[in-house]
Amino acid sequence: MCYIWQNPTLPKEEITLETLAKIPSGVDYLNLTGGEPTLRQDLMEIVELLYPKAMKLEISSNGLLPTRIEPIIKKYPDVKIRFSLEGFEATNNQIRGEKDGYNTKVQGLLRLQELGGTDLGFAITIQDDNIQDLVSLFRFAEKNGFELATSALHNGFQFHKSDNTFYDRMKVARHIESLIIEQLGSRSIKNWFRAYLNLGLISKILGHERLLKCTAATDFMFIDPWSDVYACNVRPDLKIGNLAEQDWEEIYIGSHVEDIRQKVSRCTQNCWMVGSAKTAMRYPHYAKLPKFGPLAWVIENKIRVTIGKKVKFERYIDYSRIRRDQKVVKRTSFLDHLLKTTVETKEKHYLDQYINQ
Ligand code: SF4
Repeated sequence: MCYIWQNPTLPKEEITLETLAKIPSGVDYLNLTGGEPTLRQDLMEIVELLYPKAMKLEISSNGLLPTRIEPIIKKYPDVKIRFSLEGFEATNNQIRGEKDGYNTKVQGLLRLQELGGTDLGFAITIQDDNIQDLVSLFRFAEKNGFELATSALHNGFQFHKSDNTFYDRMKVARHIESLIIEQLGSRSIKNWFRAYLNLGLISKILGHERLLKCTAATDFMFIDPWSDVYACNVRPDLKIGNLAEQDWEEIYIGSHVEDIRQKVSRCTQNCWMVGSAKTAMRYPHYAKLPKFGPLAWVIENKIRVTIGKKVKFERYIDYSRIRRDQKVVKRTSFLDHLLKTTVETKEKHYLDQYINQ
């Protein structure tokens, strides 16, 4: 579902601490994501630099090197850690091509919990091949004091993928409905809002418009390994600047970013990833406060579930409209065969072919 592992970067070309220092303080959220952040030898220094700049710092990892995160959690227990987990043992290992990934991640997260980690969890990419595990995985995470972040298959230049698609969109959507009901039934307010986020995933999976407008380039941005700054990690044509060569103000306030924001306002990709969905659900200047739409939906449906009534999904989702793909490409498993990777250099990266949805 993601070929970033086939395109590793040259460490000498990767973004430096000096460049990362240009990120301003007072940011709501910073996510160190992959490739794989634990492969950076200076991850601790990166955390030391960025932790004071953000209200929340996240490390999204594949979870295969959990010991590299231990010193970070000992020093900063509230750094948010999410390990990618696609389901229980057989499902996870098959989808991700990991020999013993499931056990490594679960044991690794339990160890981080022992060390005092306060914001630990798994992150699942929902797809046809793991929907059968979805609700049970949520219960498993809850039982162990972990979170379960959800996203769905997307294409994008960051993933080096343009042919991810669902095979049975309706079936996947119905499973997500079950998760939504489960989350609304829980006592955690976070879970209630995750339920709304998952409603947005249904919309995405069926091929509909986003529930809320995308605010890429205004409320969030993506910085790639070469310090290039993009509106998001999906469209390579939405490049705003380069943080190694420019200051943050030049990038965020410059005239070029206005053109990019115009393009974002016309974007029809309709992706709904945690970064673009969560920011759209909150007020930009009061990042802790949900916008009226998601709040009203949560209140109404929390009450419905509490008094034993059904969530009226049809009121929000038009199930008669399902995107039909021209071409369904079966995803390949790399569990049993190795593949030669190509180092991706600064001169050659991200082709426009990744925009196709
Ligand atoms: S909707 Fe468009 S601008 Fe927004 S994150 Fe997706 S591709 Fe980027």
